[in-house]
Amino acid sequence: MRKSRSQAKTVFTGELMTEFRELLLRERSSLVRQIKSLSDASLTSSRQAGEELADVGSDDFIRETELYLLSEEGRRLALINLALESLAAGTYGICVDCDKPIALGRLRAKPYARLCIDCKVVREKNDGAAPDDRDDDSPVED
Ligand SMILES: [Zn+2]
Repeated sequence: MRKSRSQAKTVFTGELMTEFRELLLRERSSLVRQIKSLSDASLTSSRQAGEELADVGSDDFIRETELYLLSEEGRRLALINLALESLAAGTYGICVDCDKPIALGRLRAKPYARLCIDCKVVREKNDGAAPDDRDDDSPVED
């Protein structure tokens, strides 16, 4: 089987693969719990606002903050799912911009990272966009 784009080979087989799959699954279940409690809180606060017609301004502010957090968490959840897919596909731990392996220490700290540290710096200078020779606009971590 040939890879269409990358010659880079993942080192994530055997024990390392198991380690990172568990890391990602743990991260995902704690995120799902967080998202669930955030959306529950959001529903509760909108019900209360309707019943009491209390300080609507600050309640809106709280809800906006919750929705913002929710979208941040949602984005991270998508990244974790992508990471789990790439782990299964044998492409995990490869930088999406330069096809080089991402440092193991970086992945242990942030198992859903899709960029090596060099490319992350490049993207930051580039307003988060991929370099010119890539049209990959898929989400990356912050
Ligand atoms: Zn890179």
